[in-house]
Amino acid sequence: MSAKEENVIVPKGWWESLPRKVYSKLERVKTSQPWFEVYKLNEKTYAIYEPYQFEETLSYVVEGDKKAILIDTGDGIGDIKKLAEELTDLPLHVVNTHTHVDHVAQNYMFKEVWCYDGPMAREVEKTGYPNSKTAPMVGPGMTWKPLPKGFDAKKWVVPPYKVTHWMKDGEVIDLGGRKLEVIYTPGHSNDHAALLDKKNRWLWTGDIFYTGGVYTYLPGGDLDQFIASYEKMVKLMPEFDYLMPSHNEPMVPKEVLKTVLEKAKLIRAGKEKKYTEGVDDGEKIRRHQYDNFAIITFEKQIKK
Ligand SMILES: [Zn+2]
Repeated sequence: MSAKEENVIVPKGWWESLPRKVYSKLERVKTSQPWFEVYKLNEKTYAIYEPYQFEETLSYVVEGDKKAILIDTGDGIGDIKKLAEELTDLPLHVVNTHTHVDHVAQNYMFKEVWCYDGPMAREVEKTGYPNSKTAPMVGPGMTWKPLPKGFDAKKWVVPPYKVTHWMKDGEVIDLGGRKLEVIYTPGHSNDHAALLDKKNRWLWTGDIFYTGGVYTYLPGGDLDQFIASYEKMVKLMPEFDYLMPSHNEPMVPKEVLKTVLEKAKLIRAGKEKKYTEGVDDGEKIRRHQYDNFAIITFEKQIKK
């Protein structure tokens, strides 16, 4: 990663602004895994947060009366399976928001894995990710606390795994007394699902929204699809109050979705002139920074 890219994607000293405000209002839960911080969001929902790595990945344990799911298995630095099993006694399976490397790393440890159906998800299931895709996540400037004992970055890969159920748009995940609806939301990746919990009025947004730099240029990303997904989520706003993203912080008030949609449309039309430039894999990218989020796109995704 060049110095120029580092400015656009990984701001220097990113950890100095932590902890994020919301965490002081949430109930912290003690666990055997110091690499993660765990917060209880209600009697049946836990956020698993990874503050010491740049992506500040969030996974969630969501319980119903009969079973529980783990939303995403993270980047593989800590042991998320052991941790999730400490948080629930119910039968537990994985539901992925999408199949980028930082969401599926420990899928292989679970017998049951649910994923949104698509060519990229089918490919990642077979191949996993090699060390060349995982190792940069602990490169210079990416972490700020010692890595867990026994973790070896040189041997770190995402092994292939078996998807036991391919999800479709609109399907309902029934946990017993609690239902989550699958909302297809491509744009960040083409196999991306948000999950709507009408009872609690929460929307899990995966990587289509979080309060950091939201990317539309990674594999499977598309700015037009991103805008369409935001239109879909904005229409659903009467059904939820808070967003549960897969990075940075949980419990984000929903109104921000309207702002992201408005800004994404301006960017797409070439009308948003304030941005910083970088290069990723030889392609020009632009970072548009706003108050509590950023949108990072390929220059070629923008109308000239
Ligand atoms: Zn991610």
